[in-house]
Amino acid sequence: MFVTNHVLAGALIGRALRRHPVAAFGVGVVSHFAMDACPHWGMGDDEPFSWERFYPIARCDGCLGLAAMTAGLGLAPGANRKASLSGMLGAAVVDADKPMRYFFGWNPFPAAVQRLHTRVQRQAPNRMGVELFVGAALASTVVMLSLRDRARG
Ligand SMILES: [Zn+2]
Repeated sequence: MFVTNHVLAGALIGRALRRHPVAAFGVGVVSHFAMDACPHWGMGDDEPFSWERFYPIARCDGCLGLAAMTAGLGLAPGANRKASLSGMLGAAVVDADKPMRYFFGWNPFPAAVQRLHTRVQRQAPNRMGVELFVGAALASTVVMLSLRDRARG
């Protein structure tokens, strides 16, 4: 799933666990695997991996993910920022293998983690709509909850 969607889910996790930033990080990591186990966009299983096809979308997604992380931090009430950041980092860190492999040719995760990450994937190239819908739903939830908090003072 897009890292942007993982980040937005992590923002909600941090919000729910606002007094427990370490737990927010752990739940964020677990959420990553759970979300990747849901149908989402990606290369088909029957086609070889291609950086040429993957990179342009991953670049946009990475930039959007950083923007989502900045917005998530900015929208979180001050006392919740640590847990929000922890939730977002936990939710996103599992996908750090892709930029690390692309830029440095090295995967920082143990083989067992990489196998699990690969095994849970339910991706197909015709599911971009799922990614966009999930992202819009998560982003609007983050924004609505933040606006509600500000209205309450
Ligand atoms: Zn993933």
